Amino acid sequence: MKMLINGENYDKEEHKEILNPYNGEIVDTVPIANRNEVKKAVNAANQAKNSLTGMSARKVSEKLYDAFENLKNEKEEFAKIITQETGKPIKQSLGEMERSIDTLKLSSEESKRIYGETVPLDAGLGGKGFFAFTERIPLGVVAAITPFNYPVNLAIHKIAPAIAAKNTTVFKPSMQAPLAGLKMAEIIAQEFPKGVINTITGMGGEIGDALITNENINKISFTGSVATGLFIASRAGMKKITLELGGNDPLIVLADADIKKAVKGAVNGAYLYSGQVCMGVKRIIVDNLIAEEFTDLLVKETQKLKIGNPMDENIDMGPLIDENAAINVEKTVDNAIADGAELLTGGKRKNTFYQPTVLDNVNMDMDVVANETFGPIAPIIHVNGVEEAIKTANNTQYGLQAGVFTENIHNGLKCANEIEAGTVWINKQSTFRTDNMPFGGVKSSGVGKEGIKYAVQDMTKPKLIGFNLR
Ligand code: NAD
Repeated sequence: MKMLINGENYDKEEHKEILNPYNGEIVDTVPIANRNEVKKAVNAANQAKNSLTGMSARKVSEKLYDAFENLKNEKEEFAKIITQETGKPIKQSLGEMERSIDTLKLSSEESKRIYGETVPLDAGLGGKGFFAFTERIPLGVVAAITPFNYPVNLAIHKIAPAIAAKNTTVFKPSMQAPLAGLKMAEIIAQEFPKGVINTITGMGGEIGDALITNENINKISFTGSVATGLFIASRAGMKKITLELGGNDPLIVLADADIKKAVKGAVNGAYLYSGQVCMGVKRIIVDNLIAEEFTDLLVKETQKLKIGNPMDENIDMGPLIDENAAINVEKTVDNAIADGAELLTGGKRKNTFYQPTVLDNVNMDMDVVANETFGPIAPIIHVNGVEEAIKTANNTQYGLQAGVFTENIHNGLKCANEIEAGTVWINKQSTFRTDNMPFGGVKSSGVGKEGIKYAVQDMTKPKLIGFNLR
């Protein structure tokens, strides 16, 4: 794949090979850009601003809708690319594409709903005889920076609302899995004047920094790790930022839970895309009264999972993104076992694969739950009662989503009120999300919200226009 700068495909002599994590084969290559090319991309986006602001909202909406139709027609092809570059099981890649096209359609609809408001100036001192309203106007150029794990949908969550709000963009995908995202950006770009959407590939440390510090970037919309997010925040200056960062989401199973439902949630939540999901279940907090029954069933269901070639529609889990990622997970689990955790199933690595693993008797001092572990691990922490469950859930720097299983509405509401997270689901695990809901964490999990309506809001600024009627 090549980059897209000012409507032209842009290549370089230096390339990075994108490897299939399942078999190590080269899927494709992408150019390694430098700071100069970042400047070119941002200049193109900056110069294209008028071509978009001059377009009616109706036209923008129609063009986004055309892009939605085109992406829909190619969703199977896209799913294959996602699986090749990420190792995600093909049925999950198709699921990502279903969500991606929905995200694009929601953006097409939202572009017709960008409202200002009238402001009752006469409620303020000296305001009698004045009349004012606000308009929501675009910010200018948005930098969209994304991680490897949902390479199409997380990128659409930035590019489409940016365009819906009439901002131009420069998109930088992860160098671990850039291909499907770049192709998606081209599909949307072909509907718009040159320079409205630009793409740039290269090493995060070099070109990422050039992008976020460029004076013509007005907003940085970033999804990725806490470490990179903190770095971006420290370099952003006066630019607006949205940071969608890591998670350490709890799944709480109270004594009155429907255990089968809770186990189903735990299996989906802990092993979806080999546990490499920001809102994956990373800690299972179980009441001692039902811990044994829950754990036995979780182990049984974990052992049923089919692991293998992610292109095979019948498998549940494929590899991790690369061997280093798998080695990190292996070390983290081994350390937890050395510190007293009990291995109930799994626990072995082969190249990029790591088995789905249940660890019992985990405590919050162990690295496996003290930090975000990006792997297929179900660590079980025992508690007594709802108070201790909530205290344990909150004992982390993260706060993305949370899931609570209980058949008692009072316990459910207590957890919802007291757990520090962007979202608390009752009787659903944290991996659930629809693309129109407000999404984004508290504490170290981030700043700002995505979800189309909320992203559009964050990609505009209010401008007040006032009249002296006296
Ligand atoms: P990462 O932080 O390593 O990389 C994310 C992006 O940042 C990549 O495009 C990378 O090239 C770029 N980058 C790296 N250094 C940069 C710099 N100095 N300046 C600008 N950009 C730079 O994250 P990753 O390993 O790709 O993704 C996994 C992480 O993302 C996990 O922590 C996961 O929880 C998080 N995540 C969060 C969400 C969410 O919505 N909250 C969604 C998915 C993933």
